[in-house]
Amino acid sequence: MKETTIPALKKTSAAWSSPLLTAIFPTPCCACGEWLGKEEKITCAVCSEMITPLPHPRCPRCSTPFTSEFALTESPTHLCGTCRKSPPPFDLAVSGGEYAGPLRDLLHAFKFTQRPDLAQPIIKLTMGTVAVPDADMIMAVPLHPGRLRRRGYNQSLLLAMEVGRILDIPLSIDDLARIRPTRPQMELKHNEREQNIAGAFKVMHPNRVDNKRVLLVDDIYTTGSTVRECGKMLKQSGAREVFVLTVAMVVL
Ligand SMILES: [Zn+2]
Ligand SMILES: [Zn+2]
Repeated sequence: MKETTIPALKKTSAAWSSPLLTAIFPTPCCACGEWLGKEEKITCAVCSEMITPLPHPRCPRCSTPFTSEFALTESPTHLCGTCRKSPPPFDLAVSGGEYAGPLRDLLHAFKFTQRPDLAQPIIKLTMGTVAVPDADMIMAVPLHPGRLRRRGYNQSLLLAMEVGRILDIPLSIDDLARIRPTRPQMELKHNEREQNIAGAFKVMHPNRVDNKRVLLVDDIYTTGSTVRECGKMLKQSGAREVFVLTVAMVVL
């Protein structure tokens, strides 16, 4: 499996990068709310420094950090308890950092405060060290049309567009669909999530994913139930490999 890391973006939108505009109209840090300095973009230097990659060692399948630093010393392919108990349908899941602190606040601002413009800087901030598997196509975990209408954008699709653009992977926007509304996974207990999401997705054009390596993008990896369900449908439709990329992972 070939892997690539997403290089830092060369250009950022003038809206948050113009020193003149920043000097005249200071903007707050999207994570902590402090006014940004001249050189700071969407998060202040303190918050930016706190956004770090997931610690090692991690599960080689789902990237959950192990609590013991020696977990992989004896056996580098040792999987976490969840992956051993219930092998995921995806081949590899990678994530930009822990869903905590400034990264959580930043994703919250992106998702719930009408800031679709944060997709690009979020990818820039979190993906620099993430080894993304090489794929034939990229797609986002879809939103149900009702929620898409209310929010106005699918945050995962904006992230997928950005990653696809940087890695030059063709984006699919209509191959995976959410065919029924579900409650937000974050509101549910662990054992309710699988049931909530079961049967929620459909692969609309199985011939397009057949024998393909699919990179599936979502904003947050909580228990993995959502991407597991998507991965299952993609594999059933013939996808050769399914990789998952999330900006942040909930680490318990
Ligand atoms: Zn800050
Ligand atoms: Zn695992």
